[in-house]
Amino acid sequence: MGRIRILPDQVANKIAAGEVVERPASVVKELLENSLDAGAADLRVEVEAGGRRLIRIVDDGCGMLRDDALLAFERHATSKLRDVKDLLSIATLGFRGEALPSIASVSRLVLETRSAEEATGTRIEIAGGKMLRCEEAALGGGTAITVRDLFYNVPARRKFLRTEPTELGHIASLVTHYSLAHPGKTFRLTSGPTELLSVTPVGTTRERVYQVFGSQVLEELVDIGVKERDLFIPPPSVPPSQAIAEYRSEPGPDDDPPRRTFRLSGFFSRPQVQKGNRNSIYIFVNGRLIRDRLMLHALSSAYHNLMPASAYPFALLFLEMDAEEVDVNVHPSKTEVRFRHGSFVHDFVRDTIRERLMESRPAPSFSPGPRPATPAMPPAQPAARLPFSEFSQMIENEAPVAASLVEPSGGGPPSRPADPGAGLPEFTLRPTRGPEPRLDFSAPPLEVTPGPPPSGKLSRRLDMHGEFPPDAIPAPEMSLSILSDLRPLGQIHESFIVAAGRDGLWIIDQHVAHERILFEQVMKQRAAGRVETQRLLMPLILQLTAEQQIDYARIADELYASGFETEPFGNRTIAVKAAPAAVGAADLERILFEIMEIAESELRGGSLTDLRRNICASIACRAAIKINMRLDAAKMEWLLRALAATDCPMSCPHGRPIAMHYSTREILKAFHRM
Ligand code: ADP
Ligand code: MG
Repeated sequence: MGRIRILPDQVANKIAAGEVVERPASVVKELLENSLDAGAADLRVEVEAGGRRLIRIVDDGCGMLRDDALLAFERHATSKLRDVKDLLSIATLGFRGEALPSIASVSRLVLETRSAEEATGTRIEIAGGKMLRCEEAALGGGTAITVRDLFYNVPARRKFLRTEPTELGHIASLVTHYSLAHPGKTFRLTSGPTELLSVTPVGTTRERVYQVFGSQVLEELVDIGVKERDLFIPPPSVPPSQAIAEYRSEPGPDDDPPRRTFRLSGFFSRPQVQKGNRNSIYIFVNGRLIRDRLMLHALSSAYHNLMPASAYPFALLFLEMDAEEVDVNVHPSKTEVRFRHGSFVHDFVRDTIRERLMESRPAPSFSPGPRPATPAMPPAQPAARLPFSEFSQMIENEAPVAASLVEPSGGGPPSRPADPGAGLPEFTLRPTRGPEPRLDFSAPPLEVTPGPPPSGKLSRRLDMHGEFPPDAIPAPEMSLSILSDLRPLGQIHESFIVAAGRDGLWIIDQHVAHERILFEQVMKQRAAGRVETQRLLMPLILQLTAEQQIDYARIADELYASGFETEPFGNRTIAVKAAPAAVGAADLERILFEIMEIAESELRGGSLTDLRRNICASIACRAAIKINMRLDAAKMEWLLRALAATDCPMSCPHGRPIAMHYSTREILKAFHRM
């Protein structure tokens, strides 16, 4: 007798649940996505005990017919796909028909739903995958799903759950970010009696960011606006005779359009905001929250030479493209995608962010102490302090991030250059003992208002920030033209220039300032194809390792274009005959080996632009004036002017900050004069 058996559905569902339902936040994600797919405009999420005891999602979507409600718990039952062709262009968030049966197999679930087409609603009760009851019920329109005792029948999973505050953090993060992706909808999240998020419909993402995070955060972000790039798809090669025939005929409805438009919008932080991990990066592709290495790489290349490689920005990116351009059927939890034209998407995202970063030329302002709490500033929504992404965490498999128990902005320690983004949401949750997780907010105590009973209508209640006052948002950035009329006063430690300006005091790191100036100069010369070089009196002979030899062969052209004239000189040896004018002969050997070291990693990453930038950064760093060097007034003045003229005067090519600014306002405050 054969030994292979088909697994009963109940077992299969539990196996699927292992992939789909990792933790309470995954349940919230699946249910929220279902509500969004159902066209809901009002989504309410209630949780207890970090989602372990209770998760309840109530929506005002289309609801389900009674027969559909029963079917929804069958494996692979979905209303979103019909045949395999549909898989190529999925417009809904769900499509696998796995979520409901999976969740129902590891919890006690109650579904209450009514479609407008039926007079009465349906109530279904399931525990551990077994249907306990199915009855008619008098219900309003929409769907409510209650999930109790998650993993009650899977002790192994239950053990892996983290503390309640951590799980709640994941849920808060998720709901917050879905609310950012759908500014036109109402979202509400409560944990027991505490309201964590409550936002009413607004017209733009900007307004939603304001509602969720408050004006202080908005001020530190750069708005991408809406940027587009077209991809031209070459027509399939056809024999000339047919091509002529096709040219004459009208394009049919099935013809592939020759061009595809990609659209990017959202927000990202200035380079001086530096996070220690990727938890503040949120990427949506066609409305779906995803984790994707390619997009993360594009983002970090945009900040290349503006931020240290170990730091991460805050980013909220919305990428829109034709459904056929992205395959979402890659992973059961649907958080991974595959792009049809990956490198196009990558370059589009990198270039767009980079251009906006350069345009915004943000002024460095490192406040010397904790930011004074300005009462006029609306507090961020409590949940906004908790974005704690399960997605980004999964990417890195980093150690649990809960270690960062820093105070949020306001009461925090002075921001160091390594973490100057103290004003940005640094979502932290303080684990405290007690029956309910208590959240630590520097904002005034929460006013807990019991929500109106779920109904089909939108909540008219104002959210905590009131209406969005467009003029309450400060001018996006201070102009850096003020840098050009700084008056140098002297040096500290023969390393830092102290200067007085129109608005306060500046301290400038002379080495990194000069590095930035030279970097941009070398980059410009490089782009124009005329790097100033100098011939060496005697060629410099360098001995390479086998590995360096391979790297050298690959980057020889790039080296030449950057002003290094080199040629092979026997086995594993090269002769350097000329070098960029800025590089002194004494530094030449060091710098070339440094470049070959970068080359190794850059070549693996495959990005020529990054390699080019790194070569220029190395040249600039070696050639720049050092610290512990005396500068006379004329030199200091020249340095400040040249810095003001750069595209990006706030950080050196390795991402370190260049200048600190103490505004007159801060000085007055410090002296209690205001
Ligand atoms: P999928 O979302 O992949 O289709 P699910 O198991 O998540 O699979 O849901 C199964 C089906 O149940 C959906 O296709 C949809 O028709 C229905 N459904 C689930 N949640 C809702 C909801 N909140 N409102 C209306 N219909 C829903
Ligand atoms: Mg679904």
